[in-house]
Amino acid sequence: MKFSELFYSIQGEGQLIGVPSVFFRTGFCNLRCIWCDTPYTSWQPESKEISVEESVTTIMGFNCRHTVITGGEPFIQTEDLISLCHLLTERGQHVTVETNATVFAEVEADLISMSPKLENSNPPANNRHFSRHQRERINRSVIQRFLARYSCQVKFVVDDPEDLTEIQDLQAEIEIPPETIVLMPQGVRPDQIQDKQAWLIELCKTHGYRYSPRLHIDIWGDQRGV
Ligand code: SF4
Repeated sequence: MKFSELFYSIQGEGQLIGVPSVFFRTGFCNLRCIWCDTPYTSWQPESKEISVEESVTTIMGFNCRHTVITGGEPFIQTEDLISLCHLLTERGQHVTVETNATVFAEVEADLISMSPKLENSNPPANNRHFSRHQRERINRSVIQRFLARYSCQVKFVVDDPEDLTEIQDLQAEIEIPPETIVLMPQGVRPDQIQDKQAWLIELCKTHGYRYSPRLHIDIWGDQRGV
């Protein structure tokens, strides 16, 4: 399997924030967000390899009940992801899979953590990745299939108050339950997060969405493996 990191930390975002978890970060992504906080999986992808069996042994060695499979985009390595989720579930792990929700596959998971990408993620129009990113970043039927089949959260990275219009349009169009929606400020440094959190919390209060800090950035900034 292509991967970039495997480490033990705490979940920094979303419904399970603060829960000690082992993170397995797969390599490669089908999107190219302008503000991607893991460019070593997307813009300049590394190509380290690990077998599914070896990754399971390493994950279980941390003696932690929660595993978060993240990326990159885990679902583009479909067969390996299916095996990995199966072996971890068989060993009693609580499995979260984080995804940009553009590719669907049936996996054994306790939580599908979707993060559909808004227009604020587009690379510049003259970048060679622009057209594909813009075309593929929202896949309505994939989001609906995950919502119908799994316990889900739907996290949106918000850069500007005007992003709320896009979120509300999508929520209405494909009937995303409001209680699954989590809004997080865009930023890869603590000061960028802090600049946005006050107005974003007010928007969450107005619309009944959950606000999530990004603890790992607040604590460690733009560091890998934390
Ligand atoms: S979907 Fe995630 S990993 Fe892929 S480019 Fe966007 S932020 Fe980076």
